[in-house]
Amino acid sequence: MLKGKNAIVTGSTSGIGLAIAHCLAAQGCNLLINGFGEKAAIDKEVAGLKQKHGVNVDYSPADMSKPADIEVMVAQCEKTLGSCDILVNNAGIQFTAPIENFPTEKWDAIIAINLSSAFHSIKAAIPGMKKRGYGRIVNIASAHGLVASKEKAAYVAAKHGVVGLTKVVALENAPSNITCNAICPGWVYTPLVQKQIEDRAKNENISVKEATDKLLGEKQPNMKFNKPENIGGMVVFLCSDDADAMTGEILTMSGGWLAQ
Ligand code: NAD
Repeated sequence: MLKGKNAIVTGSTSGIGLAIAHCLAAQGCNLLINGFGEKAAIDKEVAGLKQKHGVNVDYSPADMSKPADIEVMVAQCEKTLGSCDILVNNAGIQFTAPIENFPTEKWDAIIAINLSSAFHSIKAAIPGMKKRGYGRIVNIASAHGLVASKEKAAYVAAKHGVVGLTKVVALENAPSNITCNAICPGWVYTPLVQKQIEDRAKNENISVKEATDKLLGEKQPNMKFNKPENIGGMVVFLCSDDADAMTGEILTMSGGWLAQ
């Protein structure tokens, strides 16, 4: 379905981003993947994507906290793959603490990586998309883009910002066949959430199983983690012809979290 299209997926060396990369590649889309990790592990992911799906895959080590790196990443995609038709802003980090103890450098890092990186990548990718008359931008926000939780000041602020940015980009580009949408998942079992569960088990002196049940029980009524590939499937749908009229949409996938 996406044969011949070229996509950037930020933060795609792990978790949700890696699953999105596989789902896009399964539709014939070439990829520029990005994120941190051991060189050998990243080389293996690149080779695995190429072999499994028969698409072109390149890698950018761009640090999403650095605007100049982001510009280079978009230029690299346009040069080595030929264009950036699809942009998935997925890279993100988490840190939890009450606001009075929240380290300022953690606030700055979360705002830079989870919010400002999307501004910089969209700014760099839009001119090429406009020239070609096609673009699909998908921002991975969160349930925390719509509601809050305690001890997540930076994350919740950044994700609410991503939702607002999505709407502005959608409005500005609606006449240009460029859509911009956001996905707001509830809990997805990835290293980012695994760390929160482990911290909780330690802090509350409970088992990892009890910490997991508490985490889900507080927020997600279906008591199940979303699968990373569920988010990948939604990204593919948003890039399909059936989603041509969808722009500025904030799509939730939260196991009932956001019905409350
Ligand atoms: P993850 O920790 O498994 O993956 C994060 C990815 O981002 C990794 O590839 C990492 O290398 C990359 N990354 C981190 N800092 C970076 C930087 N400075 N520059 C470039 N890459 C960087 O996390 P995940 O759970 O897969 O999260 C992916 C996205 O989904 C995030 O934006 C997160 O906020 C969002 N999200 C996650 C959940 C969840 O429950 N896991 C729920 C809602 C939204």
